[in-house]
Amino acid sequence: MPTGRYAPSPTGRLHIGNLRTALIAWLYARHDGSRFLLRYEDLDHQAVRPEHYRTQAEDLRALGLEWDEPVLRQSDQQHVYTEVLARLADDDLVYPCYCSRREVREAASAPNAPHAGHHYPGTCAKLDSATRAERALVRPAALRIRAQGLVRSIDDALTGYTEVELDDFVVQRNDGTPAYHLAVVTDDAEAGIEFVVRGDDLVESACRQLVLYESLGLQPPQGYAHVPLVLAPDGNRLAKRHGSVTLADRRNHGESPSDVLAFLAASIGLLPDDDHVRSDGAPAYRLLEWILEAFDPERFARAAPYEPTLLASDYLGNG
Ligand code: GLU
Repeated sequence: MPTGRYAPSPTGRLHIGNLRTALIAWLYARHDGSRFLLRYEDLDHQAVRPEHYRTQAEDLRALGLEWDEPVLRQSDQQHVYTEVLARLADDDLVYPCYCSRREVREAASAPNAPHAGHHYPGTCAKLDSATRAERALVRPAALRIRAQGLVRSIDDALTGYTEVELDDFVVQRNDGTPAYHLAVVTDDAEAGIEFVVRGDDLVESACRQLVLYESLGLQPPQGYAHVPLVLAPDGNRLAKRHGSVTLADRRNHGESPSDVLAFLAASIGLLPDDDHVRSDGAPAYRLLEWILEAFDPERFARAAPYEPTLLASDYLGNG
């Protein structure tokens, strides 16, 4: 299996769902000895909590999920994104958009909008330079890539076929920060990532990202596995308030990293049936070796849960 990666945002401790995605990404890469990289998606300065560069790395290591090469931080890559954005501008593939979020929302939901819902209707795509200058006085521009009407699809190892009709999406936010899609494509291409594993809330993003690969003449990944999320008992994304959701919480709850790993593996159908690998105090790496041995991408794709996994209240210490 080709080079893989896990790309968390250091905004908090990793929770059970994040750790499960990391485990699956690691398994896809390592089961045939491929490279596995860790990258911090830390461009949203306001959301980043610097201590979590450390806690996230520690928690991954505690489970035995080691990576190759130094960890990449997107915040160190600004010069690369600037260069990539300049290439898109040179090819006239991007344009400034002065719309506020509200304007985008309202335009997208207008009765005559081409796609009711969330599509950006191209309001700023054809502004003349006088109007641009005028609007620039009111609000700094974001940059959008011209993609409206393009249809792109991926064939995902777990979620199957997804096709999306695209709109002109943001590649640079109006505070100058590179947008998620631009940064991910740049970094994945630069690192030679060939197989992308991440949460299945990003399936449609993969279709958008294909347009960026094409526009930049870059090689897209060969494959994707968008994995089902782990949700709280109330169906919402896991958060602190739901109880014992992080590795640290689980430890306070009396569990070892090995116990947590056994739980994660069982939740994706890789239950060690051999008691000795799960016995008290067995280090996580022993169990991880077993899981790696048991992991077969073909079988996993057939048996993987396609629905989000709902955690039980009593598991989270609220029962
Ligand atoms: N940073 C994203 C997350 O934490 C993952 C993005 C990606 O893997 O492309 O959900």
